[in-house]
Amino acid sequence: MVIGIIGGGASGMAAALAASEAKDAQVVLFERQARLGRKLRATGNGRCNLTNLHAGETGYHGEQSGFWKYALNRFSPEETINWFRRMGLYTVAEASGRVYPYSDQANSVADILRFALSRPNITVKLGFEAEKIRKTAGSFRVEAQEEAVDCDRVIVACGGLAGTALGGSMSGYKLLRALGHHSTKLRPNLVQLRSSWGALASLKGVRTNCEVSVFRDGSLFAGSRGELQFTEYGLSGPVIFEISRDVCQGGGEWTCRLDFLPDLDRQTLAEELLRRKKTDLPASDLFTGILHNRLGRVLTGEAGISQQGVIRDIPEEALTLATEKAKALEVTLTQPMGMDAAQVTAGGICTGEFNEETMESRLVPGLYACGEVLDVDGDCGGYNLQWAWSSGRLAGESAGRSKT
Ligand SMILES: Cc1cc2nc3c(=O)[nH]c(=O)nc-3n(C[C@H](O)[C@H](O)[C@H](O)COP(=O)(O)OP(=O)(O)OC[C@H]3O[C@@H](n4cnc5c(N)ncnc54)[C@H](O)[C@@H]3O)c2cc1C
Repeated sequence: MVIGIIGGGASGMAAALAASEAKDAQVVLFERQARLGRKLRATGNGRCNLTNLHAGETGYHGEQSGFWKYALNRFSPEETINWFRRMGLYTVAEASGRVYPYSDQANSVADILRFALSRPNITVKLGFEAEKIRKTAGSFRVEAQEEAVDCDRVIVACGGLAGTALGGSMSGYKLLRALGHHSTKLRPNLVQLRSSWGALASLKGVRTNCEVSVFRDGSLFAGSRGELQFTEYGLSGPVIFEISRDVCQGGGEWTCRLDFLPDLDRQTLAEELLRRKKTDLPASDLFTGILHNRLGRVLTGEAGISQQGVIRDIPEEALTLATEKAKALEVTLTQPMGMDAAQVTAGGICTGEFNEETMESRLVPGLYACGEVLDVDGDCGGYNLQWAWSSGRLAGESAGRSKT
């Protein structure tokens, strides 16, 4: 039985390995790029946060809530760690539950998978871009520009649209839509937020602990606490990724409130600034020792305090305003960043059209899908790769044993 897998990313490689374990299976893995796992090699800032010990409890989204549960239960984070260990990858878990390769290199995850794929019954076809899946009587023909391969089963593992520079594309959605499947609206997720705040350029690269609250037309839309990073265009970092899903989508006025000192109440901060008023330190050092120097200077400016004078001369009202800026700075959010900047696609092929226990299409028997192309996206912290491993292995295993 020939099992064709379109996409040599995280879910496709997992599917290929699982499918190859079936008796009599011949697996063909089609990858349009020149190497396997290109996106995988860039994950986790080059470290690859390959799973999260808490994945499987919550942390996944999609129109059909709970579609992910069967796959995650069957191939849990613990099982994934053991699976990688059996292939030769050592991992380490952080206190947060995030799991990384012990080497701290995403490349080792991709390489370990590549080595494991060297099995006699797996053929890897690089530079093969599937343009069409033609359904023939009882089988499929996977067609690229200059080549076609006949398969008994096909698994679509083409990934989503996010991370365009690393291979994200519409390809998987198009292949599945051509076979009658439907898609929900695609939106960027785990993405920085654009802001029109004038001070951003001078804060570029600054990281700080922060409690972030996002408001749409004045109503709280999302909030979280964690590390914030300023970029030239807006706000980034884990805390922003966590809340970025659907922010700035669908109209309305979007604002963000930033509390740079979530562990310090207003009164304590105000008292500390008043204590500093007894000194002749430069006004630009008002927040020195409390906040990142560049952030402190920007907030002093936001409170209308001249950087030229000394703290002793700052009026008390200005100190109150400086406290307010540090505890509740309001910035306006503009349009969302594009798919190129996003780590994952929210939305995708409707999961109601697939069997969650096999990943097989309910519309086209013998056709399977896994990974990000489906309408499942996870939180920041290893959830998306865990979905790729779990759904990929489930699809591969099911395709290998199916008798459709
Ligand atoms: C910068 C970045 C960092 C990330 N970091 C993390 C992280 O640390 N932890 C985490 O959990 N998630 C992370 N993610 C998300 C995670 O990488 C994806 O969710 C995951 O890779 C999805 O797996 P997939 O197999 O569905 O798709 P992909 O890994 O994108 O693989 C799809 C593959 O299919 C190929 N393909 C597409 N169309 C065709 C076609 N027509 N014919 C042949 N081949 C085709 C593509 O070239 C690609 O290689 C990150 C994403 C990005 C962009």
